[in-house]
Amino acid sequence: MAAVHEHLGEAMTKDKLKKSQVAFERAKKSIAHGVNSPVRAFGAVGGTPRFIAKGRGSHVTDIDGNDYVDYVMSWGPLILGHARPSVVEAIERAAREGSSFGAPTERETALAEEIKDAFPSMELLRMTSSGTEAVMSAVRLARAFTGRAKLVKFDGCYHGHSDSLLVKAGSGATTFGHPSSPGVPSALARETVSLRYNDADMLSGLLQRHGDDVAAVIVEPVAGNMGVVAPAEGFLKALRELTRKRGALLIFDEVITGFRIARGGAQERFGVSADLTVLGKIIGGGLPVGCFGGRKEIMEKLSPRGPVYQAGTLSGNPIATAAGLATLKELRKRDVYRRLETKSRRLARGLVNEARRAGVAVTLNRVGSMMTLFFGAERVTDYESALRSDTAQFGHFHAGMLARGIYLAPSQFEAAFVSTAHTDADIRATVRAAGGVFAELAEPG
Ligand code: PMP
Repeated sequence: MAAVHEHLGEAMTKDKLKKSQVAFERAKKSIAHGVNSPVRAFGAVGGTPRFIAKGRGSHVTDIDGNDYVDYVMSWGPLILGHARPSVVEAIERAAREGSSFGAPTERETALAEEIKDAFPSMELLRMTSSGTEAVMSAVRLARAFTGRAKLVKFDGCYHGHSDSLLVKAGSGATTFGHPSSPGVPSALARETVSLRYNDADMLSGLLQRHGDDVAAVIVEPVAGNMGVVAPAEGFLKALRELTRKRGALLIFDEVITGFRIARGGAQERFGVSADLTVLGKIIGGGLPVGCFGGRKEIMEKLSPRGPVYQAGTLSGNPIATAAGLATLKELRKRDVYRRLETKSRRLARGLVNEARRAGVAVTLNRVGSMMTLFFGAERVTDYESALRSDTAQFGHFHAGMLARGIYLAPSQFEAAFVSTAHTDADIRATVRAAGGVFAELAEPG
């Protein structure tokens, strides 16, 4: 891939990357592999991770002064774009009043009320500092509430890096899983089974055999972590019915989809409600936040009045809740989601048209303002089909887009996020850039 990077990306910007290269080498001396979250290292695509100096609206600028239209958007939280004035002001105001108290504040309740208004299934909720933490707590609660230990997830869905969720599928539908990372005890991994996404029959079979042991089924109602994969017609409804029948809880991990694909997330968009819902990203307006909530009788099992322990020094942090509230307030405005839809559709169509024109085989999956362009001709409906995409070609595409000022997630298996800050000019520039890269990719040799 190195040679192609020379050709498409790095060569064009070689001296414009010096500072990022130096910064990366320096970071590696004190931060493990130079990054605080693995995908940032560009390992999946090659090349130098851009060290970002600032973001504004739909753009980010790296420390070498290169400007990019950003579709990473902090991996989803920035639905209003970078440094949205109303959010910045809310943060500044909150910071001046004190950054953390470890005591209740009214703003936490206001944020909880705003969330409940959008997600009626969340009768009670708790805030955390990350999505990982929120999922971990929801799973513990589900296990305690049902008195069962087994957990069902789906291949290709990511639910943070807590032990119970870092589990690969076992061989065949009936076997429980094994650790997908050293350090996860296999005894714990055996309590989790991972099934094929979009395959309700597989879940039905599993529940017939093990239904009495399953505490919860957790799903990304629109998958974002194998690239975007939409739920097949009826899949979410089937999950709802099957879990209800067997007394297992249904957990929707809406860390990405919450306030993204509709104000009320997948539950609003697909009309299916969960027993427990996990949120993160957008509800913190770009600050560290997570949240889980659901039916009252389940949530009441939490400490201090209930037996299930869960806590957090910075949970409901005053600055994070201020940023979240300011963000959610803007998402109440009329037409926000319709405008996001229009823009995202235009981008998706533009990309597909350019690929066709150049004769490059792609599949584009999109739900609202989240989308993934998979390199390969096959439809992508689950993890297996996602894995059949041409990651080397994606690597070339990624480098070529960067060289043309378009910042995409550095992996085939991620989403691109459109924000309210992306302009028609941004979309046109992106489509034009993609046309240029596709033409190069189509050149023989
Ligand atoms: N669930 C989903 C669906 C996610 O996409 C993520 C993070 N990308 C998480 C959970 C974990 O959230 P965090 O990174 O805040 O721990």
